[in-house]
Amino acid sequence: MSTAIVWFRRDLRLTDNPALLAATAQCDRLIPVYVHAPDEEAPWPPGAASRWWLHHSLSRLTEDLQRLGSNLIVLQGPSRERLAELARHCRATHLFWNRLYEPATIARDTQIKTWFRGQGLSTASFNAALLHEPWTLRTGKGGPYRVFTPFRKACLADTPPDAPRPAPTRLPPLPKVHGSLPLSALGLLPRIRWDTGLGATWTPGEAGALTALDTFLADAAEHYDDARDRPDRRGTSRLSPHLHFGEIGPRQVLQACRHATPPRGIEAYVRQLYWREFAHHLLYHFPDTPELPLDPRFTAFPWSGDPAPAVAAWQQGRTGIPMVDAGMRELWQTGWMHNRVRMLTASFLTKNLLVPWQTGARWFWDTLVDADLANNTLGWQWTAGCGADAAPYFRIFNPVLQGERFDGDGDYVRRWVPELARLPNRWLHRPWDAPAAVLQQAGIALGTDYPRPLVDLGGSRQRALELWDSIKAR
Ligand code: FAD
Repeated sequence: MSTAIVWFRRDLRLTDNPALLAATAQCDRLIPVYVHAPDEEAPWPPGAASRWWLHHSLSRLTEDLQRLGSNLIVLQGPSRERLAELARHCRATHLFWNRLYEPATIARDTQIKTWFRGQGLSTASFNAALLHEPWTLRTGKGGPYRVFTPFRKACLADTPPDAPRPAPTRLPPLPKVHGSLPLSALGLLPRIRWDTGLGATWTPGEAGALTALDTFLADAAEHYDDARDRPDRRGTSRLSPHLHFGEIGPRQVLQACRHATPPRGIEAYVRQLYWREFAHHLLYHFPDTPELPLDPRFTAFPWSGDPAPAVAAWQQGRTGIPMVDAGMRELWQTGWMHNRVRMLTASFLTKNLLVPWQTGARWFWDTLVDADLANNTLGWQWTAGCGADAAPYFRIFNPVLQGERFDGDGDYVRRWVPELARLPNRWLHRPWDAPAAVLQQAGIALGTDYPRPLVDLGGSRQRALELWDSIKAR
């Protein structure tokens, strides 16, 4: 009698789950397990919004496994000790999992593999999270890619990803296992209920992921190319947290895109999936980048430190710059922010306020439901100008012009910064320029109802460019 432990981590789905499928194909008995061990992901254990998502996603996975005749064992780490106890107790012969790509999880998983093999268990890991494994792609010179376009070309020239495989229709019943915890024992949900907005916005779990994909393909994919930069529209897929937790895999998304009709807009969308691949490729090959800039000149950048009041104003959406404030409030209330606004808010923090990008990355890490070490690192380093294929430092987003271009009717700002709702469009993105009579008519006393700008956009831009000049020749 062979018994497999299937160690679920961030592959919280039954469809196209190679570890689960291998276990069902090779073994008679199956023990699905989740081991909560946030310390093992230090210095990037899941943040508060991610923990909220994880709780609900594990709950859905439990129900999905139960529907197929099995169940989920929930344990509290350390992972190796708990898996070893479980393996001993159930006389497991095999341990299967799907791979993760962060430096801490790679180190942990390698140790676990060595240890279990030493104990005579068969272990196997699989790719459930990427279209191409990071170690399979090399430049002509043999190094990792640092520029997106050739990276994407290399992906397209590589062996195409396997077609996604269906979920099993039945699973063997779970053998008797002692010590499984109720999900609530993991303490993932907040004690102070700040999560109402998250619950109203999202449906974690595999079914929620599939619905999000279907809805996007039916309603928005066709116009993705035009609408994806518009925070005032629902123009993107909002699949990011589902992809991060592996409730859906990129092979499934790619296949659904290939079958989409009409195909208009889909290429632009698939391109974004390759940005995700690129981010994972970079993190794998440059594991220091969550903390250190890829461009070494930036280690000498004279940041202004962490001026606490400015950082707090940015976090709370009280900078006095409407687009920045709208984005930061959207993030706080929903755990998500539109990509263009992520770029704007990150640019404002790092270039206008001269706060180190790592400070912003940490805040996003705690507040995003899709917080993902690879994508977050790429996004922050790209915006700060110090990463792979980054925006040049001298391109500093102007949140006023960006607002006028991408939120021309002001719906986005009015939704998240309601105190400005009565301002005419002409002044909405720059209330400090509005004539006193207009402000009065809109019921706004600047400095009281809505802050004056934290910095002068033009002056702070000039200062950032001067500082850039001081390091660029290094
Ligand atoms: P869609 O436009 O529908 O794109 C589909 C999928 O492609 C996304 O779900 C995502 O998995 C991937 N994708 C899209 N854009 C990017 C990108 N620029 N880089 C990498 N992958 C991308 N994304 C995260 O998933 N987690 C993060 O922690 C994260 N932090 C970011 C921080 C900053 C400062 C910036 C500028 C971007 C960050 N992004 C992050 C990338 C991007 O903003 C989000 O992936 C996107 O907004 C998610 O919305 P969506 O699913 O509707 O995207």
